[in-house]
Amino acid sequence: MSVVIRKAQQGVNVQILLPMTELESHLCEMCRRFPKDPVQTLTGHRFCKDCFTLYSWEGTACKACVLENITGDDDCLRNGVFNPDNGSKRDVDKMQARCLTCHLVTSMKNMETHHCII
Ligand SMILES: [Zn+2]
Ligand SMILES: [Zn+2]
Ligand SMILES: [Zn+2]
Repeated sequence: MSVVIRKAQQGVNVQILLPMTELESHLCEMCRRFPKDPVQTLTGHRFCKDCFTLYSWEGTACKACVLENITGDDDCLRNGVFNPDNGSKRDVDKMQARCLTCHLVTSMKNMETHHCII
């Protein structure tokens, strides 16, 4: 079991009841959190829309592209092309998670409006 902090800004911990290997592919390549608005690039890398916009504007290299030796204008952040990833959002919404404040177990979708978080 792993602890994944989705709402770190608000300081609330949510534990997702799945092995890390099943979560990995849904995480943003730059901040390693679940994207609120996931986007996917031509190279198949996933980001928060906000991270993508920020790092793309700054010209930062994508960490996953660096690992895969994708460089220059082929780097997904420098390339700047992305599509909304609604499939990933749907998968994450269905995941069961436990609130570490009140121990309620519910879907990530319901966690969005959970009273400990908002
Ligand atoms: Zn991010
Ligand atoms: Zn990339
Ligand atoms: Zn709670």
